Amino acid sequence: MRSRAVLALALGLVLFLTGCGGAGKTPTQAASPPASASPTPAPPTPTPTPTASRATPPKPKLRPLPKTLPAGLHRGSGDKAVALTFDDGPDPRWTPQILDQLRAAHVTATFCLIGKQAERHPELVARIVREGHQLCNHSWRHDLNLGRRPVADIKADLARTNRVIRDAAPGAEITWFRQPGGRWTAEEVEVARKLGMRPLHWDVDPQDWNHPNAKTIINRVEAAVRPGSIVLMHDGGGDRKQTMAACRQLIPELKKRYGISRLR
Ligand SMILES: [Zn+2]
Repeated sequence: MRSRAVLALALGLVLFLTGCGGAGKTPTQAASPPASASPTPAPPTPTPTPTASRATPPKPKLRPLPKTLPAGLHRGSGDKAVALTFDDGPDPRWTPQILDQLRAAHVTATFCLIGKQAERHPELVARIVREGHQLCNHSWRHDLNLGRRPVADIKADLARTNRVIRDAAPGAEITWFRQPGGRWTAEEVEVARKLGMRPLHWDVDPQDWNHPNAKTIINRVEAAVRPGSIVLMHDGGGDRKQTMAACRQLIPELKKRYGISRLR
């Protein structure tokens, strides 16, 4: 009896010493004994259904979306010429194609970049800047509800996106911010401004994200465009073959009819 107790004590001492002596090797093991040594019995499990456990971290309530767009959004090029904007890239398949088209036409556009995409394809961000296009922050992960979240979350999202864009293109100017889906809130516009970005909306939306054919994209743009329009199209977020085809006709046509200019 007593010898067993001594043995247990000795064993405990050895374990204690090796636990301390192995500093750096297994820090998690060193931390585990107190938990198992807990004298209290395991607490009754509070019937954790999968939904209940997922709901435990309280989600901040989303701010309601305003019925009308907040004031101060840029919806015109500031010029007689039209401005082209391409969202949801950079994408290794489509972005180089549209860059080639723009270069061939000697015009520039504005690229609304998703942070995660910019992190994955920094060489495309660098090329966009090198070829004289303007940059627009389009949120980290295309969060349609970003404008409804706490101001601190919006700020963190926008700042993180700007950080990866600037890592890819040091010193690049990120003039614009565009809320995914155009689901703006006044609070978000304010955050963007505080971070030095102007809120960029549009007035011509051919809904190319919904995969109409090239002819439909062309028709929709032609029907809605007027002097000073901002045209919204996509070079990422899905198969953009039809957008690329539409642009081969639209870019020379818009350039001839209105001119294509930088946003101001
Ligand atoms: Zn988008």
